[in-house]
Amino acid sequence: MTRMEPQPGIMDIALYVGGASQIAGVSDVVKLSSNENPFGPSPAAIAAVERSARTLHRYPSTDHASLRAALAEVHGLDAARIICGVGSDEIIHFLCQAYAGPGDEVLYTQHGFAMYRISAMAAGATPVEVAERDRTVHVDAILAACTEHTRLVFIANPANPTGTFIQLGEVERLAEGLPEQCLLVLDGAYAEFEEGYDGGAALIEHRDNVVMTRTFSKLYGLGGLRVGWGYASRDIIDVLNRVRGPFNLSSTALEAAEAALGDHAYVEKCLAENAKMRSWLTEALRGLGIGVDDSHANFVLARFSDPAEADACEAHLKTQGLIVRKVAGYKLPEALRITVGDESACRRVVHAIGQFKAVAE
Ligand code: PMP
Repeated sequence: MTRMEPQPGIMDIALYVGGASQIAGVSDVVKLSSNENPFGPSPAAIAAVERSARTLHRYPSTDHASLRAALAEVHGLDAARIICGVGSDEIIHFLCQAYAGPGDEVLYTQHGFAMYRISAMAAGATPVEVAERDRTVHVDAILAACTEHTRLVFIANPANPTGTFIQLGEVERLAEGLPEQCLLVLDGAYAEFEEGYDGGAALIEHRDNVVMTRTFSKLYGLGGLRVGWGYASRDIIDVLNRVRGPFNLSSTALEAAEAALGDHAYVEKCLAENAKMRSWLTEALRGLGIGVDDSHANFVLARFSDPAEADACEAHLKTQGLIVRKVAGYKLPEALRITVGDESACRRVVHAIGQFKAVAE
């Protein structure tokens, strides 16, 4: 019998571990582990999903022209320089497939998002992890780590799971200092949560070595439909389209994303609620003696005194029907990442952590 072997390195890829959404034996569960919109999708997106059912016998658009035009309009971009993917995960994947292979290095930072490593390894490239400073992307450390083999540098801004943010001047300094053969990918999965930040879109207008990725999974509440997009030079978008499957996005996903994008009032309401509850949650946790950096996203990172305390707190929260995210896999074993929920969820989680702290002391 022939034993089919995968490509070298594939079996070294650690499986992505997703968060649970249920707790056995506990009802009234609140999931605060995946940075989802606590208010759900906009009613306009739900209506679009229902409408889309009538044409499900048809293949979806191959070029996503309508969604790209809507994105271009809302963000003031050139539609021809946009590509859509099955979540921004797929754009990350396309970038690695198209630009990195055996012998090439893909850089990301110490607490960087798991998909950078997975996609780099799936392409046969060498993943290289660079230290951060105070849980924040450190531009000089990245520049110092670049070699003649570096092809891609991924940074998320705001970053996950730390919630930290680097100013545009720093991003620009990074883009400017990278070796010629290297692309900078600005992962903007949480860009909308930083007021006034364009995800790096303006930078791309005058720098052809920068790519921006965005998603409908967070602010727009459509994680279940998997819609992401990227923005770059025409040449890069042309390259990425060559590795993209023709029908990568379903018609339902495309229509819902376009409707969600157009529901400005809903988006504004979600942003305002997030800002309000994020500062409330941050202050309440700090009041309990927990270390919390200012977050620029829709979650906070709660740092406990050691990994055992973080684990014990996570277990206690589970008994209270609250699911938060352990981030030991992101080299933060003493921390828990907590999505900013609605007011009642935030109050519940603070109350339960308060209970835990009271018993522990
Ligand atoms: N980048 C970052 C930093 C993320 O946190 C996530 C989701 N957890 C993604 C990309 C991927 O999001 P999606 O594929 O749902 O667009």
